[in-house]
Amino acid sequence: MIEKDGVAPLEMVAKEFPSDPDILYKPKAIIECYKEIPCNPCETSCPFDAITIGEDINKRPHIDFDKCTGCAVCVYNCPGLAITVRQINDEGALLKIPYEFLPLPQKGDSVNVINREGRVIGQGVVKRVQNTMRQDHTPLIHVETRKEHIMDAMTIEVIA
Ligand code: SF4
Ligand code: SF4
Repeated sequence: MIEKDGVAPLEMVAKEFPSDPDILYKPKAIIECYKEIPCNPCETSCPFDAITIGEDINKRPHIDFDKCTGCAVCVYNCPGLAITVRQINDEGALLKIPYEFLPLPQKGDSVNVINREGRVIGQGVVKRVQNTMRQDHTPLIHVETRKEHIMDAMTIEVIA
């Protein structure tokens, strides 16, 4: 339960996904910002005006999936690491995950895929490590994994 241990149950997570799962055949930001907090870099950084918080900065962000291109600018601008970009294709799922640990994985590495409770739920392959100056030390790991993990995957673990 999120109130007890900070872990959002999947029923709660599902509400942040597009109601039409086919929308995820294109990359979309999934925002898991469940509390009302005074914060809005996601809104101000989105180049496509896809995120709205509005006048009251305490409100939770709302995303317009029609406007979201999956560019991931909001992902590395979110101080709470509360946003990921997720996409499905016929074979699997592709996620862009903010990752602020060292060592960073390398392209082609196999990694463990971790859920919100910190448990290993499967494996993935790193397709790209995106780490430009404008990301200000919040690298994005592009990882491909099994389609069934599109919702429960949250981060990755480098395999030593
Ligand atoms: S992924 Fe890009 S287009 Fe989508 S909400 Fe984030 S910044 Fe905006
Ligand atoms: S930037 Fe992140 S933490 Fe701040 S309101 Fe947006 S999603 Fe929530």
